[in-house]
Amino acid sequence: MLSPFSVLFEPVPIGPVVAPNRFYQVPHCNGFGHRMPQSHAAMRAVKAEGGWGVVCTEEVEIHYTTDLSPYVEGRLWDDEDIAPYARIAEAIHQHGALAGIELTYNGHAASNLYSRSPAFGMRSMSLIGGSGYEPGQCRAASKDDLRQIRRWHRAAALRARQAGFDIIYCYAAHGLSLAFHLLSPRNDRSDEYGGSLTNRVRFLRELIEDTKEAVGDRCAVALRFAVDELIGPEGLTHDGEAAEIVSLLAELPDLWDVNIAGWSNDSATSRFEKEGYQEQYIAFVKRLTTRPVVGVGRYTSPEAMVSAIRRGVMDLIGAARPSIADPFLPQKIREHRLEDIRECIGCNICVTGDTRFVPIRCTQNPTMGEEWRRGWHPERIAPRKSDSQILVIGGGPAGLEAARALGQRGYAVVLIEASREWGGRIAHESRLPGLQEWRRVADWRLTQLKKMPHVAMYLSSPTTASDVLETGFRHILIATGATWRRDGVGRHRHIPLTETAQCFTPDDVFAGRLPAGRVVIYDDDHYYLGSVLAEHLVEHGCRVTLVTPAPTIACWTQFTLEQERIYERLLRLGVILIPHHRLASWTPGLLTLTHIITATPTMLPADALLLVTERIPNDDLYHHLLPALHQRQIHTLRRIGDAEAPGIIAQAVFSGHLAAREFDEVIDPDRTPFRRE
Ligand code: ADP
Ligand code: SF4
Repeated sequence: MLSPFSVLFEPVPIGPVVAPNRFYQVPHCNGFGHRMPQSHAAMRAVKAEGGWGVVCTEEVEIHYTTDLSPYVEGRLWDDEDIAPYARIAEAIHQHGALAGIELTYNGHAASNLYSRSPAFGMRSMSLIGGSGYEPGQCRAASKDDLRQIRRWHRAAALRARQAGFDIIYCYAAHGLSLAFHLLSPRNDRSDEYGGSLTNRVRFLRELIEDTKEAVGDRCAVALRFAVDELIGPEGLTHDGEAAEIVSLLAELPDLWDVNIAGWSNDSATSRFEKEGYQEQYIAFVKRLTTRPVVGVGRYTSPEAMVSAIRRGVMDLIGAARPSIADPFLPQKIREHRLEDIRECIGCNICVTGDTRFVPIRCTQNPTMGEEWRRGWHPERIAPRKSDSQILVIGGGPAGLEAARALGQRGYAVVLIEASREWGGRIAHESRLPGLQEWRRVADWRLTQLKKMPHVAMYLSSPTTASDVLETGFRHILIATGATWRRDGVGRHRHIPLTETAQCFTPDDVFAGRLPAGRVVIYDDDHYYLGSVLAEHLVEHGCRVTLVTPAPTIACWTQFTLEQERIYERLLRLGVILIPHHRLASWTPGLLTLTHIITATPTMLPADALLLVTERIPNDDLYHHLLPALHQRQIHTLRRIGDAEAPGIIAQAVFSGHLAAREFDEVIDPDRTPFRRE
């Protein structure tokens, strides 16, 4: 029988090479970059093993004057850098995939904090790399400088070929590279690299021609091009100049890799954009070129992928996040194991590897980033070492993942949950505006657990220490989560409020107890929840003011690339935003704030106060069971997830996974449990 998905497994010629199928892992950052090449190679290899036909690196700097530090990207500055890239290409090739490399010269988007050598830019203009506000400017690239940059790019392409790469990129996307800056209508140069569109395209055309001439005999030359900046006529638009650019260069590259700029638009979170959201922008490209086109849009469903191919939107299904959440997505489609696909939830925790300069992590896939340092594999896990039976208490992300991974190892597990539904915080939070896809964290685990006859699961089973001891289980994992504080204590306040009448917490909202009237949300948590609750309360008729001690609203969401969209949404909803203020006192009807720096007081009339500050771990059960552990009535007792240390969902999943991997292992607390490079 012909599979409805067989089109996805057709080979696609790309210039002189052939992609074995249509699954294309587009370039994505990972926090390893040049600093941790072994971790990087192992992570890319797992994608290739999982069936991605093409696996690419992230941005790779071609020269020390385009040093992207503090971000940790790739580096191919000179011949010394070839060896680690050869390892990456080899790791990808081992599994039959093509290896792609995204070469880049970033102009004023490179802050050169490490090399201390000013970048060459379109003109001498303010740096936008680093913090976004690095003091200083790049130097204007003369025509000679542009010629020199072309030489550097050519040399890097030759190095990439020597390292074994099959697809070599010219990069003009995300608003980040000099080639893109020169394309821009904002390019005001008066020489033949500015002014008319033909002039503005010149550098990119030369870059592609040079690269083809240098390596085109053996390597495909891809162009990564952002067809819309979503800033209207000030930038490139898909129905304006971007279409003309595609026409001008149509057959020149061997592959068009198209998306939208900037990165926050390209990697929009599921709170703001759904699967396939880029189609409306990129669909025109295939009409203007016969070269294969790859596009992205957080595709996780094979039906949507097939449809994008059949409708002629793209030839190759590009993916960064879906390949991070499930490196084995292609193989699962091939084997018709669709229910096993671990779908990306679009939260962008993976992006924070890059934006926080640490190894990549993923909410859905706790093995992401751990391939080399812990030897973890997304599909394989060590079999059980004993006949031990384990009781897991709490069915949130930590408990579900621990039970699933223990079950995968073959242990007999009983998972119990106090409430009437699985998912813990996921069940509640995924009902809030925009967060529906987060349900996938619970759904995927439940699907897997239901296939395991040796895992028993019980809802509506609030459990006490004496219940636990009665069960006779000797191994207990406590995944009982955490409870939001009602007393205002948090980062910026250490003394509890004396008055808590009309004080609400997120847990109240989850339980359907909503404040009414004029509500102040006090956000000392700084991630998404305060802003999502603001939306939720506006939907329920409240007049909402969001107060935070931080200098900006939802401060940490800058790292998940969501902050601007959050601002836009809240401002459109009429939410009043008050940053830089700390909670001073509360009596129902009146809130007093003080400015975080000057201590100037402000009075705010308010009917209710919703406190999003800190959580208290629900670890009573753990403490009640400790004596039984000491008396050897039980053999192991471990807290995981928010019950151990309240954190993001990714951390709870990781913690559950770690506990499952470490079960029956002797853990030496004096030994670092992972390799370093
Ligand atoms: P985490 O993010 O660490 O997984 P959650 O708060 O999402 O934490 O999930 C914890 C789950 O544990 C909740 O669904 C909660 O109902 C459940 N739970 C808490 N205490 C008990 C208990 N004593 N017995 C059984 N289940 C419990
Ligand atoms: Fe998807 Fe979130 Fe994983 Fe990134 S961290 S791949 S957005 S689930």
